[in-house]
Amino acid sequence: MGARAAIIGAGIAGLTAARSLQQAGVEVVVFEKSRGLGGRMATRRACELQFDHGVQYVSAKGPAFTEELERWRACGAVAEWFAGAFVGAPRMTAPARLLGEGLTVVHGALVERVEPRGSQWLVHAGDAGEQTFDAVALATPAPQAAPILASAGVTFEALERVQFAPCWALMAAFDAAAYDGPGWMAPEGDVLAWLARDSAKPGRDAGRLTFTAHANAAWSRQHLEDAPDVVAPQLLAATQRLTGVRAEPSYLSAHRWRFALVEHPAGEPFLFDRYRRIGACGDWCLGARVESAFESGRAMGAAVAAALGAL
Ligand SMILES: Cc1cc2nc3c(=O)[nH]c(=O)nc-3n(C[C@H](O)[C@H](O)[C@H](O)COP(=O)(O)OP(=O)(O)OC[C@H]3O[C@@H](n4cnc5c(N)ncnc54)[C@H](O)[C@@H]3O)c2cc1C
Repeated sequence: MGARAAIIGAGIAGLTAARSLQQAGVEVVVFEKSRGLGGRMATRRACELQFDHGVQYVSAKGPAFTEELERWRACGAVAEWFAGAFVGAPRMTAPARLLGEGLTVVHGALVERVEPRGSQWLVHAGDAGEQTFDAVALATPAPQAAPILASAGVTFEALERVQFAPCWALMAAFDAAAYDGPGWMAPEGDVLAWLARDSAKPGRDAGRLTFTAHANAAWSRQHLEDAPDVVAPQLLAATQRLTGVRAEPSYLSAHRWRFALVEHPAGEPFLFDRYRRIGACGDWCLGARVESAFESGRAMGAAVAAALGAL
């Protein structure tokens, strides 16, 4: 039997690592706690509406991600929103679905611990069962990776340095309101850091006025443990002040991203114990963007493949 690797987390980092391992001939299983793919590159669907409540747009700086983004565009998984800024088409999850094609992904699989079993690792995925692997790569936000690595008896100093900011996201729809303001704004006020007119993004239903608004890091921290129905009216008021849209919303919801944007990255493309063949990757290794997640996942996949090649 060939070498087997487990990837924990089906965001852009995990899926990119899994693809690169599969291309290297490694048998890969991706464990994902949710029902979907893409992690923070997400779209909420409700009442025949859709909101990009996580990633707002994707852009590329380096050559590898520029090439990957072009592949996504050629496959119709992204469309240009404004110059150099792309959104998933028809939803933010489209690139993750493209990356996930042909991969074995176990959904509803919350990995709680990983234990050594001889020269292998036993991955415990709750109701999704247990499996042994020759290598394991965690592709979750660093604070979620730390306890799982600890269960395996592994620590990485660089992981301790990583810091995330939370973000409260508002999703609001207005059926009977006019708005001819900008498609996006990055205000510097006390509450909001970002506002986008979701319904003006390419491939969205332009017939219904929808907004996604993000609270800034300070406000999100201050209200971290508040309930969504306490947060939503406050973010709605800030949105109404910013847009001038005073109508009552026909849909209103708030989502808390506990680990949203990386404030202090690890400063290394991935963390890996090549002798024990266990490591971690994600945007937080390099930065705070989808490109950082892609670069980290790609590098992690190559490192795991090289370690397994030596078996
Ligand atoms: C509000 C917000 C706005 C953003 N805006 C932008 C933007 O405009 N442009 C941009 O480039 N980036 C943006 N980002 C950052 C971007 O989302 C991330 O850089 C990128 O998506 C991270 O990908 P990842 O694969 O590293 O992690 P994630 O997307 O977080 O994926 C981790 C996955 O692991 C899963 N998981 C976690 N724990 C477990 C477990 N124990 N067992 C199994 N599965 C588990 C999660 O369900 C998730 O699917 C934004 C993020 C947020 C939250």
